[in-house]
Amino acid sequence: MSFADTVFFGGPVFTGTGTPHHGLAVAVTGTRITACVPEAEVAAMIGEHTRVIDLQGALLSPGFQDAHVHPTSAGVELLTCNLSEATDAADAVRTVAKYADENPDVPWILGGGWSMDHFPGGAPTRDLLDSVVGDRPVLLLSRDHHSSWASTAALRLAGIDSNTPDPGDGRIEREADGTPAGTFHEGAMDLFNEASPIISDDLAYAGLLRAQGELIALGITGWQDAYIGGGIGGVRDVRSLYLRALEEGTLRAHVTGAQWWERTAGREQIPEMTRRRDELIERGQDSRFSLGTVKIMVDGVAENHTAAMVAPYRDEHGHDTDNRGLSFIDPERLNEYVTELDAAGLQVHFHALGDRAVREALDALEAAHAANGETDGRHHLAHLQVIEESDIARFAAVNAVANIQALWACHEDQLDELTLPFLQEGAEARQYPFGDLARSNTRFAAGSDWPVSSANPIEAIHIAVNRVVPGETDAPLGGEQQQLDLDTAMAAYTSGSAYVNHRDHDTGYIREGYLANLVVLNPNPFELSAADIYTTEVNSTWIEGESVYSRGA
Ligand SMILES: [Zn+2]
Repeated sequence: MSFADTVFFGGPVFTGTGTPHHGLAVAVTGTRITACVPEAEVAAMIGEHTRVIDLQGALLSPGFQDAHVHPTSAGVELLTCNLSEATDAADAVRTVAKYADENPDVPWILGGGWSMDHFPGGAPTRDLLDSVVGDRPVLLLSRDHHSSWASTAALRLAGIDSNTPDPGDGRIEREADGTPAGTFHEGAMDLFNEASPIISDDLAYAGLLRAQGELIALGITGWQDAYIGGGIGGVRDVRSLYLRALEEGTLRAHVTGAQWWERTAGREQIPEMTRRRDELIERGQDSRFSLGTVKIMVDGVAENHTAAMVAPYRDEHGHDTDNRGLSFIDPERLNEYVTELDAAGLQVHFHALGDRAVREALDALEAAHAANGETDGRHHLAHLQVIEESDIARFAAVNAVANIQALWACHEDQLDELTLPFLQEGAEARQYPFGDLARSNTRFAAGSDWPVSSANPIEAIHIAVNRVVPGETDAPLGGEQQQLDLDTAMAAYTSGSAYVNHRDHDTGYIREGYLANLVVLNPNPFELSAADIYTTEVNSTWIEGESVYSRGA
């Protein structure tokens, strides 16, 4: 037997499912795990050059995989006018003022990260920007990327005024006389596409690499990029950034890219999507970056009342309106597209937030199953804010994976002030019903939707288990029956996400022969009380046997 390069011992090992094993040692040689054996057996693998890591009680886990994240826009946001740390409206405006002062020559002030719950009705106004930048154009994405905030100069340069109609898939906030007020929702954001400058390819690339560093420091060794397209946030072409990273050898993580489905186009996009996927396979690069997934937006978001609901939204007095949100794609067409994508061996990653959107996505998967029989699509539905009870059991029936953003499953202002008052009575009980899904044997994957919210898996796992923000005394959102146990939440973020990434044959588990993509967590969250899980930190992150992050280093 040859000696190992690295040996981990002295701490529990979470192998990707179940509860941690005690008394195991893990040996790594080259890029792979070569042994996962009782500690007594590992001595023979330790040679003169073996790096011996005493975990001192910390937990060794497979690296986390984020099943829904937008690294490029997150990284660009960190490198431009970044409002994600702003604590309220005044702070956001101060941040814009500071950025404008420090960058007197940028033609457009671009960036994002503002929070809807900092502004009345979730809609910041242009005059707030004008008051600090004067006549300079400003265009800032909201934290959830479903709205943008523009200055008066930006409106003028884009030719937007009181005569500009709302597009079919979006909404313009207006003043009493019809003049746009400064916030643009969903498809209305596209009104700026021609006028606003694109982010340079170099800045976007720097953003991707910056984001990769941030994710690795959080123990994330792979992810599914939920937006491989062009346009959003001024980034011209996300795919080309990954291809450049492959070329330059800078992509360390394993990435599955979800190609963006243009909802104004139809099935004619499928051959090109298949070609892009196959190109990477033919070049043998798909083990680092693959494009076998297609992202379809079924609906919008609840905060701006564009999530597709079965029951109507209510107005501020509690009366039903005639708005049930938006289905971005006609359900009949959706069935056809999903059937064809499934037949082409492409995975569908649905954005499905409202209960009607969830139903439409499940209907489409049933149609695909009826037409194509069993496939290895591993289709998944992300977000899942509201699910009708009768649809819960349908996930397992069509092998649809619940891709959860667990950080959102708690009482906070965005939910309590901008969403729940406008949903039907009793809607709270149907928010993010993860417990119901678990009891119906649904497969889980987990992700962050960063920069919409924090990318830290530990924070999300804490909420999945508690459904209460650390330190708060609220009741768990939807009741204790919607809490997940820690094993389920950890499995979702490791082996579950590896499954949707079609990487469970070599990642997501600690097993002999698997890639040594690992994270060391301290303290071991399994030994903490549920209310303290959030105190766990990443000690180190390993990709293919190499130490890529070490705390304090
Ligand atoms: Zn997203």
